[in-house]
Amino acid sequence: MNTAFLQTPIDYLKGVGPNRADLLRKELNIHTFQDLLNLFPNRYIDRTRYYKINQIQQSNAEIQVIGVIKNFKEVAQKRGKRLVATFQDETGTMELVWFRGHKWIKDSLKLNTPYVIFGKTNWFNGKFSMPHPDIETTEDHKNGLNNGIQPIYPSTEKLTNKGISNRVVSKVVQQLFLETKGRFTETLSNELISDVKLISKSEALLNIHFPKNQELLAKAQLRLKFEELFFIQLQLIIKNLIHKTKIKGFTFNKVGTYFNTFFNNHLPFELTNAQKRVLKEIRADLGSNAQMNRLLQGDVGSGKTIVAFMCMLMAIDNGFQACLMAPTEILSVQHYNGLLEWCKKLNINIEILTGSTKTSNRKTIHKDLESGDLQILIGTHALLEDKVKFKNLGLAIIDEQHRFGVAQRKKLWDKGISNPPHILVMTATPIPRTLAMSVYGDLDISVIDELPPGRQAIKTVHRFDKNRLNVFKFIKDEIKKGRQVYVVYPLIQESEKMDYKDLMDGYESISRDFPMPEYQISIVHGKMKPADKDYEMQRFAKGETQIMVATTVIEVGVNVPNASVMIIESAERFGLSQLHQLRGRVGRGAEQSYCILMTGHKLSDDSKTRLNTMVKTNDGFEIAEVDLKLRGPGDVMGTQQSGVLNLRIADIVKDKDVLQHARYYAKKVLKEDPSLSHPNNVNILNTYKALSKYKNIWNYIS
Ligand code: ADP
Ligand code: MG
Repeated sequence: MNTAFLQTPIDYLKGVGPNRADLLRKELNIHTFQDLLNLFPNRYIDRTRYYKINQIQQSNAEIQVIGVIKNFKEVAQKRGKRLVATFQDETGTMELVWFRGHKWIKDSLKLNTPYVIFGKTNWFNGKFSMPHPDIETTEDHKNGLNNGIQPIYPSTEKLTNKGISNRVVSKVVQQLFLETKGRFTETLSNELISDVKLISKSEALLNIHFPKNQELLAKAQLRLKFEELFFIQLQLIIKNLIHKTKIKGFTFNKVGTYFNTFFNNHLPFELTNAQKRVLKEIRADLGSNAQMNRLLQGDVGSGKTIVAFMCMLMAIDNGFQACLMAPTEILSVQHYNGLLEWCKKLNINIEILTGSTKTSNRKTIHKDLESGDLQILIGTHALLEDKVKFKNLGLAIIDEQHRFGVAQRKKLWDKGISNPPHILVMTATPIPRTLAMSVYGDLDISVIDELPPGRQAIKTVHRFDKNRLNVFKFIKDEIKKGRQVYVVYPLIQESEKMDYKDLMDGYESISRDFPMPEYQISIVHGKMKPADKDYEMQRFAKGETQIMVATTVIEVGVNVPNASVMIIESAERFGLSQLHQLRGRVGRGAEQSYCILMTGHKLSDDSKTRLNTMVKTNDGFEIAEVDLKLRGPGDVMGTQQSGVLNLRIADIVKDKDVLQHARYYAKKVLKEDPSLSHPNNVNILNTYKALSKYKNIWNYIS
């Protein structure tokens, strides 16, 4: 059946009509025949399996049993009576129960005649019982439609109330198969079908709706998942390829004095192999004449900053400017201070621009940017303002990318003059590979998967609130050794007031247990003015205070190597990636560092999993995998990207292997036939074109 026919509005399908069509549109977003065809069942009831009564377990969902009715009795209950039948097979007895229609049931059902019963069972009075079973004679059962695997379609309360039951949906799907004779256009090439060992499109659609057996159902699912993921990957890779050929970038073809001087004379430590590899990957991009769009992933503390700096040097060596945008003021200041030292040695002009930059400074910065005197600009969102104009921005770096959206990337993009600048986005929140492939499939990805040498693994423990005294004693011992300590409180927007109170209560109690003048305490939270925040941060960074009480404002990037203890209060209220980020604030120096997760006694299962994961591993990628399993891809990536993950049948977490296969084959096909013009690939090309045309079906590819 061709694609155009399947675009027929659903109203025109026999058995649907205007009212039902309306409901299908509103409730299930089904507009066309194609949409109905792609309404895949949520689950199936397997009526190929027959239970013996002694095999029934309390956890069973719907089951079916063959047996005979031995007797009926009516039992009085609070209101009216219930009809109870004793049902028996060769292994035991159970009860069938009806609360209405007694007369009709007694008249139509015969004693000692084999029946197939089907329904949910309850455990009641020491016996299994099945209320209002579906019931038919073994004869009818054998000849009827109820002996296969039955699809259960997605539904809504409204649909059920308006009489569009699962049976009705199943019937209209059957009607569609009748009208199309069950023949559907193949979307993949023969080669792919045989290489991946898939069943045909028509066979898959038939068996996803009306599975002949479990094996064919599994094959149908695999085929459709593969297809879904394959075309998403194809789309992403094509986008990336088109990007590379169409979007010209500045070519940084020389490695110049700044880079070499820094590399030869000022490198503060030897780069790790991972850092070297990533620098090479980036240099290759910058040297080609295509615009770079690269994601740099590296766990907290893996040393992304120096890589970013050396990339900036490549830009400056080629006569361009560079900028680095960070999500918070604190982080921008820290980057600025760190890079300033290196810039001084190299005679590079660097400035910082944030919301709190004074107007007079701001004006100078604007002027120097436009004249080109300023070579590097660090800052917050303030960089995105229209007034900020570069003479020739060649490279824009975004730190902690998960805090920024696509819109910000675009704004930086527009700051290029003749060409867009090269863009490098960095994130310390590792994204599982599978997810990165799907969400950032159009970006190139580099990974720093190695920590600088000499780091000791942070020891993480979970302690209950009642052990607080021991924890405080431990803190005192660490401070005696000259170390510094963070104590972090949750900050969740909705209950900001309560959080603020928690923080202040905590601050007071810590002040009592750690009295002045022996102990000095800093406090930083979101309600403070930037200047005050900065002052407190600086006091802590310089070692003037030993304890930093804070909300999650210190979550990203802050670097105080002498701090060796991270206490996280109400740790059960934090997400995994946040906990991992916070923990990354310690373990930055040579000393053994500790992370202590404080919680109350009552913990949900998810909280327990999060805490145990933190205690068990320091590996950000492993943590990201657990996080993905707990929260699902939509939540992990944030709402802005969840549309991309709105898959029809595949599940990025569960179908990781299929995804990897799909990506592999999408790449292979495009490598052998970039324009998909070979006759072998005609199905793929047609499908690809149709998908781009009928956006409403595949709206997750946008
Ligand atoms: P992140 O990737 O979290 O941004 P940073 O760039 O802040 O990490 O680096 C963390 C710390 O490790 C910094 O103090 C930095 O100077 C140090 N560092 C980075 N690379 C190396 C290296 N190759 N050898 C030793 N120390 C390094
Ligand atoms: Mg960083």
